[in-house]
Amino acid sequence: MSKRVFNFGAGPCTLPLSALEEAQQEFTNYMDSGMSVIELSHRGKEYDQTHTEAMALAKEIFGAPEDFEVMFIQGGASMQFSMIPMNLLADGEKAAYIDCGAWSGKALKDATYYGDAYAAWSGKDEKYTRMPKNSEIKLQPNTRYLHITTNETIGGIRTIEWPEVDVPLVADMSSDFMTRPIPWEKFDIVYGGAQKNLGPAGMAVVFIRKSILDKTNKNIGGYLRFDIQCKKESLYNTPPVFAIYMMGKVLKWMKSLGGLKEIEKRADEKAAVVYEAIDGSNGYYNCPVAKENRSVMNIVFRLPTEELEAKLIKEATAAGFIGLKGHRDVGGCRASCYNAMSMEGVQALKAFMGKFHQENPA
Ligand code: PMP
Repeated sequence: MSKRVFNFGAGPCTLPLSALEEAQQEFTNYMDSGMSVIELSHRGKEYDQTHTEAMALAKEIFGAPEDFEVMFIQGGASMQFSMIPMNLLADGEKAAYIDCGAWSGKALKDATYYGDAYAAWSGKDEKYTRMPKNSEIKLQPNTRYLHITTNETIGGIRTIEWPEVDVPLVADMSSDFMTRPIPWEKFDIVYGGAQKNLGPAGMAVVFIRKSILDKTNKNIGGYLRFDIQCKKESLYNTPPVFAIYMMGKVLKWMKSLGGLKEIEKRADEKAAVVYEAIDGSNGYYNCPVAKENRSVMNIVFRLPTEELEAKLIKEATAAGFIGLKGHRDVGGCRASCYNAMSMEGVQALKAFMGKFHQENPA
């Protein structure tokens, strides 16, 4: 394969070409050290600079206020499903979860192993096609936090209305991390796996309100303690150096584009192109999601039959559009349009979808 494909995969996924090329160019001799970044000591000056810069940029680009610290923790978003209740829940406290799809379901289930966790709303009966309205969220007394999944990667829905509740929010933003400004004052923790918008797999990026660290649990293993991870600036042990290094490059690229506002604008424009292809097809392509909660990152759609879906995926792959198969649990098609997907990519996909419709009427 001599050219790059349009990668619509849900994660790992497309990353900015400039970041990949820069890494390629400096790979065997990073910062004149005579070594690659994955051979350097994580306590040496070259890595130290890389690590510190990535931390500062993550806070800067996401607009995290002074009272927030960022951590790079291995184990992906899934480990946060345990670490969060382990650290946050004290005796007698409960954890509320918005059950809006596969990932929030996993987060809720894991929390039940560490405390009293419950669904404050569930979209199960509606097949997870929308997010709740504020009035539908029911909190129980002694709730420590409300966990939300801001974008459900499999169902293709996202939160538009930030919950108005009188407990802090904890958000899994794995699949819409750094795609729009967020109301930080509502949150205690914002986290996500890095392998979609931020870089390669290998860690979760976790933003935490510093002022809650005195109250987090201290009777758990060192690596799992948020207060220790913060105090050690994510260098408690050997960090996932390659993931952090690459994320630094992706963050620099985001900054060069103009930061979060520009990224949000581009994300909306790119998603609009794919939704136009769906909505303009007279029902041939169908997105099952409530319009107001349509994800701009993971766009799910069905065709009139499963045979046509399989044909589309096969022909799309041959034409250089990769990763359009929906998640194995739900089937159908899904076009993930993360930050590094280009406008050219979504326009080419729209044209492909139009042509496929013409050639394969229902
Ligand atoms: N939450 C969401 C919303 C996700 O999309 C994913 C992965 N696709 C996860 C959590 C789990 O992430 P990880 O693989 O980093 O554990």
